[in-house]
Amino acid sequence: MLVTGGSRGIGRAVAEAFLAQGDQVAVTSRGGGGPEGALDLVCDLTDPAAVEAAFAEIEEKQGPVEVLVANAGITDDTLLLRMSEEQWAGVIDTNLTATFRLVKRASKGMLRLRRGRIVLMSSVVALLGSPGQVNYAASKAGLIGIARSLTRELGSRSITTNVVAPGYVETDMTAGLPEEQQAAYKQQIPLGRFAAPEEVAGTVTWLASDAAAYVSGAVIPVDGGLGMGH
Ligand code: NDP
Repeated sequence: MLVTGGSRGIGRAVAEAFLAQGDQVAVTSRGGGGPEGALDLVCDLTDPAAVEAAFAEIEEKQGPVEVLVANAGITDDTLLLRMSEEQWAGVIDTNLTATFRLVKRASKGMLRLRRGRIVLMSSVVALLGSPGQVNYAASKAGLIGIARSLTRELGSRSITTNVVAPGYVETDMTAGLPEEQQAAYKQQIPLGRFAAPEEVAGTVTWLASDAAAYVSGAVIPVDGGLGMGH
């Protein structure tokens, strides 16, 4: 199985959870440094040739990818009128276009196997919107369209595609937020705190398990009640 962005934060916790179950895990990131026991690949997902090379190496060493967790993502926030074409394109390329590339490549092997699990890491921001995150929210909402279309395209081959929509999670991504903003967000979260990355990982391992075989096209919030189920 493959977890993109497995070197830090949510992706690392997801990779560790699968490793703890005894699964074979490959992780990718630009900088490298995945958890011990994982096949650690350096791969910039915005580069099609690098993605192809990563899949070739995984298939050679671990066999076809049966579970894809497309988790890597970036933010580049600013208000609409200040947002440049580059800021828009950069976030869309990494979060949305790279996911298209990954699911396309991974589904080849899954179709041959006639089974597979695809989990896309979206965000509560896809559903609620967020000022200063037009690029990010659009990219994360786009993942829902991918998942629901893939459910219709691939469902009959026992390939499920689901979306996980975390709220605020304690990672490098949120550590960059100013203290006051973090406090203001926590006030809006019914559970009154940010999530630990492991709390998102639990939902991902469940989606990949036999217990979730009949769940597809779903958007599962892991947000402490922030979106009230949406
Ligand atoms: P981090 O910033 O902690 O980690 C991001 C990971 O993605 C790193 O491993 C990074 O490695 C990798 N990555 C980024 N860009 C690329 C690229 N072009 N090619 C390959 N790898 C890349 O993020 P989080 O763990 O916080 O977030 C993980 C996912 O969850 C993201 O998609 C994010 O949008 C989403 N999310 C996060 C929330 C949060 O509160 N933290 C809330 C909701 C959703 P490297 O930099 O070395 O490439």
